[in-house]
Amino acid sequence: MKVAVFSTKAYDRQFLEAANAPKQHDLVFFEPRLNQDTAILAAGFPAVCVFVHDQVDAATLEILASRGTRLIVLRCAGFNNVDLKAANKLGVNVVRVPAYSPYGVAEHAVGLILSLNRKIHRAYNRVREGNFALDGLLGFNINGRTVGIIGTGKIGLILGQIMKGFGCRLLAYDVYHNPEMLALGGEYVELPELFANSDIISLHCPLMPQTHHLINAEAIEQVKPGVMLINTSRGALIHTQAVIEGLKTGKIGSLGVDVYEQESELFFEDLSGEIIQDDIFQRLTTFPNVLITGHQAFFTEDALRNIAETTLNNIADIEQGRSCPNEIRYQPEVEAKVLVS
Ligand code: NAD
Repeated sequence: MKVAVFSTKAYDRQFLEAANAPKQHDLVFFEPRLNQDTAILAAGFPAVCVFVHDQVDAATLEILASRGTRLIVLRCAGFNNVDLKAANKLGVNVVRVPAYSPYGVAEHAVGLILSLNRKIHRAYNRVREGNFALDGLLGFNINGRTVGIIGTGKIGLILGQIMKGFGCRLLAYDVYHNPEMLALGGEYVELPELFANSDIISLHCPLMPQTHHLINAEAIEQVKPGVMLINTSRGALIHTQAVIEGLKTGKIGSLGVDVYEQESELFFEDLSGEIIQDDIFQRLTTFPNVLITGHQAFFTEDALRNIAETTLNNIADIEQGRSCPNEIRYQPEVEAKVLVS
């Protein structure tokens, strides 16, 4: 099938071309993000392949559909950037990659925990400048500490397994109690209890209306003083301004984030040398006890291979008229739109 691939980076091209060698789809790579202005690039392409920051809204879908597009191929899990109702109305199928990197994301969360605790990001710079002083680098033993995991699906469970290996007590919060987390010794508690007793809190639930700004001023009041907060899930789970206040008072001891509410303006692009206009993000970067990565938790070879293979299999399923297990169907009865990606 002829596929217009938007938001292409060199690594997308490398993994998609490798996976496409035996399949021979006609992939054409475009660097820009898909939106109403760039949709014209896909004229005559029956399939359009997109990632998390592409805008597949109703207006964009209308332009695509009017020029022959019949399939939207997400190379990610979340579909909050796709207007499914409009796609359904226009007869455009939507497919995705539901899971590609649970180990990669959980391991990245552990990386943030270890770096923040032992100040490895600061030690790296100090040693390069010939500063071997230890002042300000004091950490704590992870062993014996309590980790609160919010969302115990694929990624949260793996984080629990890893932290169990460190000798941690696991507190968990989820609307569904995962038997594997219980078997691991995880104790499901309500949020106030998790907030009050956790030394480290890590977020692994989807972004949806119920979880939007889950970590707000009220939650921060309830946490253990000096708590470490980790977010590799979605930026808007955290009310960033409230977290900044918590960092300023010391209530939050450290913050590690791979996601940020306004990240679509920043992440995945090289903006070095430009003046960043987002003052909230810039304030975050000034704290020595804040570690930010630019949505790279998923970014492992294994994940990119998996994304590429699943994406091309999804295209083949639809092209050959087979039912595709990864097709997302518009469900009018589902009112609460899940905002994961
Ligand atoms: P998953 O669907 O396996 O698990 C999500 C869990 O959250 C489920 O157990 C679900 O019951 C729970 N949940 C739903 N509503 C909840 C609520 N109101 N409160 C608490 N828990 C709730 O998903 P996953 O694969 O483990 O992914 C978790 C999140 O990680 C995704 O939503 C996505 O936002 C994020 N993610 C980030 C990256 C990255 O690169 N940073 C990559 C992949 C996924």
